Amino acid sequence: RILVLGSSNTDMIIKLARIPRPGETLLGGKFTTAAGGKGANQAVAAARAGGDVAFIARLGKDMFGDQALAGFKADKIDTRHILRDAKTPSGVALIFVAGSGENSIAVASGANARLTPADVRAAEAAFPGSKALVMQLETPLPTVAAAAKLAKKHGVAVILNPAPAPSEKLPPALLRLVSILTPNETEAELLTGIKVTDDTSAREAAQALLAQGVETVIITLGAKGAYLHNARTSGLIPGRKVKAVDTTAAGDTFNGALAVALAEGRDLPGAIRFANAAAALSVTRLGAQPSAPARAEIERFLKT
Ligand code: ADP
Repeated sequence: RILVLGSSNTDMIIKLARIPRPGETLLGGKFTTAAGGKGANQAVAAARAGGDVAFIARLGKDMFGDQALAGFKADKIDTRHILRDAKTPSGVALIFVAGSGENSIAVASGANARLTPADVRAAEAAFPGSKALVMQLETPLPTVAAAAKLAKKHGVAVILNPAPAPSEKLPPALLRLVSILTPNETEAELLTGIKVTDDTSAREAAQALLAQGVETVIITLGAKGAYLHNARTSGLIPGRKVKAVDTTAAGDTFNGALAVALAEGRDLPGAIRFANAAAALSVTRLGAQPSAPARAEIERFLKT
């Protein structure tokens, strides 16, 4: 069993020729909605990859929250620890995508910002017996820290995906509770001041994070794959070659699949190969949650 704690958003996307300027109204856009939010993306990716997943989150008591909840249930996610907020709307992201591919995104966190340490403690029953707790930084940091503490208490491994990129260094007390930290190149640079451009700089950045108390660091490197580093081992696990269509939520799919593989007892390099395969499949398809692959697809792809 895997716990995921984090955000759920509804992405509302308008594709149009260019991004409107302040004060301007542009007609002729095409509208789509997609389930998103890093926490929800990771929970869905883990469930599709074959995990028994419980999601800890907060939604509003509105239509968007209803839709998100129905989506989690369709993916057989345990929703007993999802709270509903009567006074605050569900999280939404309003996204403009221009013909050039450039985008402009505004997020109203809504209920996500109201997930509290007390909410986490109320979900303590979910922790004993769980293999991993997966978190990101789209919910308040004190809540993430409280969950990491509870995970430690119950012997649950903490996987922290430090995304979106934090504006300041993470508290050392939190990093010391992290079993696996999974930054991308940008996040690794923000957390260490070391620009990740190749294996040598990836290793340096990972080592700097180890020095901050993390047990294992996995820096995701886009199409190149992921760099694994801890006290025992260090090296690149190459990514899978695919035709990229939309890299939205590649990192989320990676984290969800990684947790499943580790919970099943694969070793770190094996779990990263599984996660690379799942994430590569997700970039061949559009959207956040819609792009997460099913277990059977990942296994078929791993055999090729
Ligand atoms: P994020 O989406 O968080 O920025 P990355 O871009 O590092 O993270 O991607 C996460 C993972 O997704 C990579 O480690 C890799 O496994 C996979 N991935 C991303 N982009 C591609 C790509 N173009 N081709 C194949 N795999 C990819």
